[in-house]
Amino acid sequence: MNKTGVRIEARDVFKRYGPVTALAGVSLVVEPGSVTALVGESGSGKTTLLRCFNRMVEPEAGSISVGGRDLSHVDPVALRHGVGYVQQDGGLLPHWNTRRNAGMVPWLRGDPEFERRADEALNLVGLPANEFGARWPRALSGGQRQRAALARGLAGRPDILLLDEPFGALDAITRVDIQRTFRALQSELRVTVILVTHDLREAFHLADRVAVMKSGSIEQEATVAELQARPTTDYVSELLDKAGAA
Ligand code: ADP
Ligand code: MG
Repeated sequence: MNKTGVRIEARDVFKRYGPVTALAGVSLVVEPGSVTALVGESGSGKTTLLRCFNRMVEPEAGSISVGGRDLSHVDPVALRHGVGYVQQDGGLLPHWNTRRNAGMVPWLRGDPEFERRADEALNLVGLPANEFGARWPRALSGGQRQRAALARGLAGRPDILLLDEPFGALDAITRVDIQRTFRALQSELRVTVILVTHDLREAFHLADRVAVMKSGSIEQEATVAELQARPTTDYVSELLDKAGAA
């Protein structure tokens, strides 16, 4: 499944919902094959920004590009076939077994090998396909469900992977386990990843760079080491203190 990700860029992106400004002029670059974590309190605009990259959200102003292509010129359906997306609750379809769920993107694309791609992805995320492929989502544990959701994100061999708090609801031990899997597969696959998390320590553990969001803006965007050493705003310092990571 070797493949290297593409560059992602947002430039001066604005998005409002009625009176609420969800994104107040956000710019962000994610280099090919790297992982950027979006961190910030609830309502700071993380999910909205993430969804701009697969056109589930259309910015009102500003531009988004993936692999050098301006997304306003790209068909959203075709785009989503090249973008892995894991939504907050995993979003597995309950009446589809794990293999069908995992193979959804190649299946939508009309790829006759969708089952093989599903099994490959399931094996990759630590859910042996021969054991788990035929199971219903309800017969999986929370951690296994998130692994299956991750497999679905990867089975279409995406250039970019958008993860919305994928490990947020898991207990600590399961979480560490799945984080380890994520690191191992990312070092092999080198997809370009944007990972939303409200856990700064998770961001430090999994990401190359961290963007701290507050009220629809990016407060600071830096490498993990730089953010830890030199927070540029009081808000970022406060977050570091709270995470016990300063
Ligand atoms: P986060 O993911 O950081 O919690 P969101 O991007 O989901 O934040 O939301 C940012 C802001 O936009 C919040 O105030 C939220 O209530 C608002 N918002 C998000 N989606 C919608 C929507 N579909 N309709 C109305 N308001 C929305
Ligand atoms: Mg969110």
